[in-house]
Amino acid sequence: MGKSMDGICQHCYQLIVGNAYRVTSEEEGITFLNMIVCYPCFMEAKRLGLHAQEINVGNKQPSAQSQVSHRPRPHI
Ligand SMILES: [Zn+2]
Repeated sequence: MGKSMDGICQHCYQLIVGNAYRVTSEEEGITFLNMIVCYPCFMEAKRLGLHAQEINVGNKQPSAQSQVSHRPRPHI
């Protein structure tokens, strides 16, 4: 318990509590940045224009599920 998905932010070296995020940067097909970061660093990365996304851990995807249910049905 409490040891499931904790990690250390590779940018500020703080313990990541809650969601972890991956920041990547690619240029000419070469990935030269790929780190797991905490939320503040994720926001910072986005502000800097880096590619950053939430890491989906486990198989539950509530966001995708709600996306489907909220999708309006097209009436043609
Ligand atoms: Zn951080």
